[in-house]
Amino acid sequence: MTSKKDLSLETRLAQACHYIDEVTGGTSPPLQLSTTYSRNADYEYISRYSYSRADNPSWEVLEKVCASLDGGVEAKCFASGMAAVCAVFETVNVGEHVVAPRVMYHGSQDWLRRISEKRSIGLSFFEASDIGALQRAVQPGKTSIVWIETPVNPTWDLIDIRAAADIAHQAGATLVVDATVSSPVTTRALEHGADIVFHSATKYLNGHSDVIGGILVSARQDERWEDIKWVRTLTGGVLGPFEAWLLLRGMRTLFLRFERASHNALQIARHFEQHPLLERVLYPGLESHPGHHIARRQMTNGFGGMLSLLVRGGADEARAIAANTEIIVRATSLGGVESLIEHRASIEGPHSAVPKNLLRLSIGIENCQELIDDLEQSLQRSAKT
Ligand SMILES: *Cc1c(COP(=O)(O)O)cnc(C)c1O
Repeated sequence: MTSKKDLSLETRLAQACHYIDEVTGGTSPPLQLSTTYSRNADYEYISRYSYSRADNPSWEVLEKVCASLDGGVEAKCFASGMAAVCAVFETVNVGEHVVAPRVMYHGSQDWLRRISEKRSIGLSFFEASDIGALQRAVQPGKTSIVWIETPVNPTWDLIDIRAAADIAHQAGATLVVDATVSSPVTTRALEHGADIVFHSATKYLNGHSDVIGGILVSARQDERWEDIKWVRTLTGGVLGPFEAWLLLRGMRTLFLRFERASHNALQIARHFEQHPLLERVLYPGLESHPGHHIARRQMTNGFGGMLSLLVRGGADEARAIAANTEIIVRATSLGGVESLIEHRASIEGPHSAVPKNLLRLSIGIENCQELIDDLEQSLQRSAKT
């Protein structure tokens, strides 16, 4: 029999790494709401817990499963994806330098611009599809963090994690990968040389659009990781016990959900690839996608549920298509069981480098033909108006 450590991702997910409650035998963990933990008459803590901002039994199973999925030494959960992102950048010192993609998740980029101005942290952006541009952007001895996202939101350009890790490490920097969109089901960034992997757990990990949370997983115990944990405890961006419980429950079906979303998205991407009302479909699973060769190597269990449509025309034409969908919901976010459509430039604001004719779709687990029919009718109707 395979040892528990070598069990497949889907078994580890379904069983929460074979969780069984030691007290009751329950297969789902208890919800511990206490904020404080008592001491005995000798003034020693009765358990290993003291205060729930520092340490919390409700996080433990979740963090263990997340560390196992990404193959890291330890995982830490946060109150939101952005709380985790901020904890990482809190470890950058004044005068140091950060490199990130020019098109990336806008919240992380907005935060980077802010700390760069407020704390004199150098900031360089590179074109995600050009690894040579990353090489030119790093400043050996000065770059503290290379932050990448793959696939990059919302063009789904692929960044070769192994190549980025080599560049970062030669410059003495830490490589952090935002793997929210790929999820550990298809890309385990630490296996490709990343030092820290980040997930907005709000998205695929939870998958039901009802929890905000973030996860960091580290490849090793080192000074930066210690610093990140300290930041979490002292800035207090901690996940509530019920959110941790819900997130773990959602994660049990992550594999199935991701598989189905990937299947649906690939069918949709293929169906609309040559559509006369569209300029282009951006999806890593299409052979026409510029990063497809990297995706084949780096995404080992499907290409995910995220795709973008570049419509013929501009913002108005794009918004008209979104206005006419009847099944696909007009909303931001991604990775939930329900399909969403969004005119991305509208939400990103003035710094947005996203094309104005881009519609971002997060494909869910619905009946694929119904999603195709819905998009088809919304394209036809928007063409008539
Ligand atoms: C949503 C998202 C984040 C931020 O996470 P929150 O949970 O919303 O704070 C960061 N990166 C990516 C790629 C995301 O999609």
